[in-house]
Amino acid sequence: MFNVAALMLITTALAIGWGLGRYQRPRRTARPGATSTLSRDYFVGLNYLLNEQPDKAIETFSHSLEVNSDTIDTHIALGNLFRLRGEADRAARIHQNLLARPALSEQQSDQVQLELARDFYHLGVLDRSERLLIALIRPTVAQEMNQAARQLLVEIYQREQEWQRALDIAQPLVRHFPSTRRAAAHWQCELAEDELRAGLAGNARKHLRQALSTDAECLRANWLLADMEHRQGRYRDEIKFLKRMQVQDQRCISLILPRVVSAHEALGDESGLMQYLNNLLHHHPHSTTLITIAERLQQQEGSERAAEMVSRQLEQTPSLKGVDYLLALYLENECDEPLYSRMGLLKQHTEHLLKQRPKYQCQECGFKSQQHYWQCPQCRQWGTLLPITGIEGE
Ligand SMILES: [Zn+2]
Repeated sequence: MFNVAALMLITTALAIGWGLGRYQRPRRTARPGATSTLSRDYFVGLNYLLNEQPDKAIETFSHSLEVNSDTIDTHIALGNLFRLRGEADRAARIHQNLLARPALSEQQSDQVQLELARDFYHLGVLDRSERLLIALIRPTVAQEMNQAARQLLVEIYQREQEWQRALDIAQPLVRHFPSTRRAAAHWQCELAEDELRAGLAGNARKHLRQALSTDAECLRANWLLADMEHRQGRYRDEIKFLKRMQVQDQRCISLILPRVVSAHEALGDESGLMQYLNNLLHHHPHSTTLITIAERLQQQEGSERAAEMVSRQLEQTPSLKGVDYLLALYLENECDEPLYSRMGLLKQHTEHLLKQRPKYQCQECGFKSQQHYWQCPQCRQWGTLLPITGIEGE
């Protein structure tokens, strides 16, 4: 596989070639022998590279180049290359060695510190990484580097579940980066959950309002607000927050529906529920909505009426879940033995298929899961897992 590391190695090799050219030119008259030695190193390194021996190539390149202001960027790149290859300890050694050089300008020193912080982060030495990054958050540091330092610090605080610190550090990034804005709202939700566990509902509410003002699309904030109302027995308000989630993103319907149903049941508001469900099915024909209506119809008017409704709906919007439910309804009324067995077998298949199907998918990296997470376990992005729609999903 011709991966990023290989590409970077070639770029570095070319940079070394250029660096050697610049570095050797003034010496040519004084020490003609040096040129041929260094050029030979360069070509030996390149030869290793072309023969797919990247380890030897890196070794040769790193030894062939003296550290001075002209070659510093190449050394930084070599260190980065080791990190990219999963050898963060060697990367750290190169970057530490560079940091000890007095020849570094302030900007170069900042750059090396940032790379060293990245090495330590990869090595799991978070406190050392944190110290280096904090030193980079000062007005004289270039904006790009300041942002990069903040982004990595945020990663550290997230790993340590230091939500308030993550919020403080990410503050200047929130306006520029939508993913940081989304994450910041979730950190507020995490703080709200901490307050709820401590029994401080007022503080939790404050964090959740803050989450929504940071990111008006934050589903989790309304989910938690609904939860708080539910605990207080204020079911009308619970429904209000759940319906706000539906306005935020109609793809979350299957997530909120069981709670909307149980809140209406707690209120004894069957007609309000049916009106809501029918309206929902008309605008967003998800299979969960269809089955929820069918279940109520079955209780009130019997299986035949429910089966009739489901089969009519499936003609317009086919779904595996709908077919599975329809088979269950047919089985309840079927007395003819061979037909009953065949339908039972078919039902086993649909059940099996449904069990294997993931329910949620990350919109960022494509990770699929049966369970819902607010943070994707694979790409660590917040609020990106949504119910899967289509024939095999909702
Ligand atoms: Zn993901």
